[in-house]
Amino acid sequence: MTRADVTPADGSPGARIDRRFAADVEAHRRDAPRFCPQCARDLGLANEFWEGDQRRFYCWCATCDWTGEVTTTGETAIGHEPEH
Ligand SMILES: [Zn+2]
Repeated sequence: MTRADVTPADGSPGARIDRRFAADVEAHRRDAPRFCPQCARDLGLANEFWEGDQRRFYCWCATCDWTGEVTTTGETAIGHEPEH
């Protein structure tokens, strides 16, 4: 997705969406990272994709060239230890 995909519904081309995907678009707008964790400027790219049940955002900062992935976890962090 490009920056236009997270533009508010203001009539711009990126705001016209297929209603079947409206919930996904809303979730993307709510959860997509907005700022670079390294330099705190606006992220140039936050491309959402899925791996199984996990939602991930591949991010790139146009200012400092940082790249990384952000994974949504729900209410708590996801660990690697088995449940106690
Ligand atoms: Zn940056």
